[in-house]
Amino acid sequence: MHGNLVVISGPSGVGKGTICRALMEKYNDLALSVSATTRKARAGETDGKEYFFYSLEQFEELIKQEAFLEWAKVFDNYYGTSRAYVKKVLAEGKDCILEIDVQGAMQVKKKCPEAIFIFLVPPSKEELARRITGRGTENEAEIQKRLKMAAQEMTYLKDYQYVVVNDQVEAATEKVRAIILAERCKLSRWLNCHGEDLF
Ligand code: ADP
Ligand code: 5GP
Repeated sequence: MHGNLVVISGPSGVGKGTICRALMEKYNDLALSVSATTRKARAGETDGKEYFFYSLEQFEELIKQEAFLEWAKVFDNYYGTSRAYVKKVLAEGKDCILEIDVQGAMQVKKKCPEAIFIFLVPPSKEELARRITGRGTENEAEIQKRLKMAAQEMTYLKDYQYVVVNDQVEAATEKVRAIILAERCKLSRWLNCHGEDLF
């Protein structure tokens, strides 16, 4: 059976990376798409693990080759999802998680309307600010940019099917897992695979 495409978005610092890592550690029927980016690697990040790091020229070449299912400019850098990787994972029968921004999610919605769209929200604005600051990976100007952007990103909430409040990592991870499991049981998906030929 073909896997499902699961899109997870939410403002920077809400905990998307944390929840996706927790899902990967616990469940081996899921795969996380490793995006391409022109952003510089942060301390502790490895090429091919968190991202594939490219120069702007290399990224533009990949756009020309139509290597991306979606791509977008986020916070002055380019980010994109490999079409080939997603195709491979889905064909293996695993669900493929895309942790991408709202612009990318809207492109996926047009191309793959059957995908599952989940928006992660923080318990409060104040907690979001604490998490971005606490992560310690951005300078003050970057933090302010991300907080401003968070308000804009929240306006896309209506374009998603599910909203999960990331109050506690474990609880939020299990809510995302529950959504993924429930979606696998949707009659429409099942009929797509089995048609009318039930027995
Ligand atoms: P994103 O990928 O959405 O930008 P991260 O996963 O990097 O966010 O999380 C931002 C910071 O918030 C990290 O320091 C992470 O450890 C912390 N964090 C994530 N989820 C929670 C939570 N439920 N409660 C408290 N801190 C959290
Ligand atoms: P960060 O630089 O903090 O890792 O990510 C910044 C933003 O880029 C986040 O909102 C993240 O979801 C988004 N992002 C990461 N990978 C992709 C991708 O492949 N496509 C799109 N559109 N956004 C991405």
